[in-house]
Amino acid sequence: MSLSIRVLGSGTSSGVPTIGCSCDVCRSTDPRDTRLRPSILIRHTAPGSATRNILIDTTPDFRAQMLAARIPRLDAIIYTHSHADHILGLDDVRPFNYRQGTIPLYAAPATFETIRRVFSYAFDDREFKTHVPQLDVNLIGDDPFDVFGLTFQPIPVMHGRERIYGFRFGAAAYLTDHNAVPESSIAKLSGLDVLFLDALRHKEHPTHSTVATSVASAERIQARRTFFTHMSHDVPHAATEETLPHGVALAYDGLEIEVNEATAAA
Ligand SMILES: [Zn+2]
Ligand SMILES: [Zn+2]
Ligand SMILES: [Zn+2]
Repeated sequence: MSLSIRVLGSGTSSGVPTIGCSCDVCRSTDPRDTRLRPSILIRHTAPGSATRNILIDTTPDFRAQMLAARIPRLDAIIYTHSHADHILGLDDVRPFNYRQGTIPLYAAPATFETIRRVFSYAFDDREFKTHVPQLDVNLIGDDPFDVFGLTFQPIPVMHGRERIYGFRFGAAAYLTDHNAVPESSIAKLSGLDVLFLDALRHKEHPTHSTVATSVASAERIQARRTFFTHMSHDVPHAATEETLPHGVALAYDGLEIEVNEATAAA
């Protein structure tokens, strides 16, 4: 099997540059300092099967992200939680629906409850449902679930008072929004090749991890390669990377990573 990840957005909820801001990062000419809202695309090819494009979260930048990455087909959408920066692009799945039909969606019950409220027109029983997102809803819990031959292990993380999900899939894991990773979740993250961690900024925040906290989490989890994401304009790409330990780097929009599955088997 082959597994790769494309970072569609590495920015926090407001994106970078931030509206109205003229700080050094918002005015930076380094393309890695331009960050859309947080999302990744997983490309998975099981033996003898077609490549599947599996998306984690539909950000307000979803349309721009699909166009930038030239994604021809979307096979499934998995949600971490229901905050605006992770769900608001859902209406733009319609062009995929027109060509492919209904798309499976995976979310925890509380997450889906909010999605259903925000996008009620897509889920309410109405006579005219042609031009609304067409989704096949699958509710998930703490148990692993299968998406076209790839197993997703939900990884509970604390995001302020909320318990939300990161996901492990093969030898990779994506832990966006969180300020704490419980010990029971660390235990599910052994043998990783690739790990993504929220690293909002340097100053403490009640619901997000800082760069220093995520460096410590990277040391606890011991993935071969760790990438930080969900970053604000307080985190300049080049200057911050110089301070990070070996094996830890900042993600950036458009970053493509091949996951080495041999790591997990070792
Ligand atoms: Zn700024
Ligand atoms: Zn959030
Ligand atoms: Zn977020």
